[in-house]
Amino acid sequence: MAASLTKSFNPETASWFLAKEKPPAQIKKFMPIVATQSPAIAQPPPARRRSLADLLAPLDSIAAHSPNLVANHEARFEAGGETYTLPRYLFVGPKGGDTPIRVGIFAGIHGDEPEGVRAAVQFIKLLEAKPELAAGYYLSFYPVCNPTGLEDGTRHSRSGKDLNREFWGSSNEPEVRLLQAELISRSFNGIISLHTDDTSDGFYGIVRGATLTKHLIEPALQAAGKFLPRDPRSIIDGFQARNGVIRDAYDGVLSAPPKVRPRPFEIILETPQAPPTFLKECAFVAALKTILTEYRKFIAFAPNL
Ligand SMILES: [Zn+2]
Repeated sequence: MAASLTKSFNPETASWFLAKEKPPAQIKKFMPIVATQSPAIAQPPPARRRSLADLLAPLDSIAAHSPNLVANHEARFEAGGETYTLPRYLFVGPKGGDTPIRVGIFAGIHGDEPEGVRAAVQFIKLLEAKPELAAGYYLSFYPVCNPTGLEDGTRHSRSGKDLNREFWGSSNEPEVRLLQAELISRSFNGIISLHTDDTSDGFYGIVRGATLTKHLIEPALQAAGKFLPRDPRSIIDGFQARNGVIRDAYDGVLSAPPKVRPRPFEIILETPQAPPTFLKECAFVAALKTILTEYRKFIAFAPNL
């Protein structure tokens, strides 16, 4: 029975984010997300906490009435006796070509980098106002990849781990396992992560994955450059850089499953921390918008890239 269900399971129609109601039990069995147990807690949470609900309230209110945006708070995990969700949002753009282009946008995996979280919220607001920007796309947003860290304002999760060094290495961190399940089941054409660098004065990008990625980052940095200067250094964060582009990254960063072929495009956008919030958000949003536009052009010319 399980085999026949697997065979007939269609991830596009049965996925969590296409059904606003609860999916039928037999489909739920195959949903990638499962609640997992947190490892031991390394330190008690600080008293002052940022409210995740407040940060995400604009998205949940859009999802409540929009035909384009679906919110899903079903991915749960335990940390220190409390239940957390790893929130996910799907923005379905107007129909474009044949197959929707699936892109995952990830933010807040370092809890002390709320800029990316806010930018993801702003970008979804923009898409809601101008859905044609997302024509042809299924955009999966994971705006809070490290809920406990974001709540506490710490880079690490409450278990003491840098979650962005844990991917594809048999991690026991529940957030990483939930995200890995998504990265496997969604088979993204592109993956974009948003980060903040408190040691940089300029905006920069890290490119990995598909070779076309390098053609996406330059226009993205140009677009961001209307708001924030580019980091001109030849070494950024210990890596060789050219024109604000790095082609290497730490092991264990959030990325496509190692064996996936063809490789999706993978871009990490880094904003400097010091500039005003408004400029950081505008730079991120401009870069995201540009990546979607540029990648759509590539797909139109070479659908098998
Ligand atoms: Zn970061």
